[in-house]
Amino acid sequence: MHVNNQNVTMSQTRMINILLVEDDEVDVMNVKRAFKKNNVLNPLFVANNGLEALEMLRGKNPESAIIPLPRIILLDLNMPKMGGIEFLRELRKDDRLKNISVFVMTTSNEDSDKVNAYNLNVAGYILKPLSMESFIHAVSTLNNYWQLCEYPD
Ligand SMILES: [Mg+2]
Repeated sequence: MHVNNQNVTMSQTRMINILLVEDDEVDVMNVKRAFKKNNVLNPLFVANNGLEALEMLRGKNPESAIIPLPRIILLDLNMPKMGGIEFLRELRKDDRLKNISVFVMTTSNEDSDKVNAYNLNVAGYILKPLSMESFIHAVSTLNNYWQLCEYPD
């Protein structure tokens, strides 16, 4: 039987690490569920606020360090300790972290949040959809995007 190698290549998943920064447990579960539904196999790391995310990215604690660094961050805005905008400011100031692509996923429809986020070079600002179905669709679109991109080793 002829094996179509092209299909194998097309379905290969780029195994870049992804970091989700989110304080809401239900939202974390929803992202994990949407990953599963869309067959997204990339390792997903979770930080519960900006401070925790910076610690993981800077690898201060070897146990929680993310190696290699994630190429994609999914970022909530409203979080305790350090919110998303403050986290972005720190990220963009850090030479090792400043080029990571960040997608904001938030319930905040505030114009000031959108302006601040784009000024800090986010790749996209996504309002959290209300239904699981549209959420799964959103994650599918994101997955198509990062599958399409080439990243340095
Ligand atoms: Mg939140």
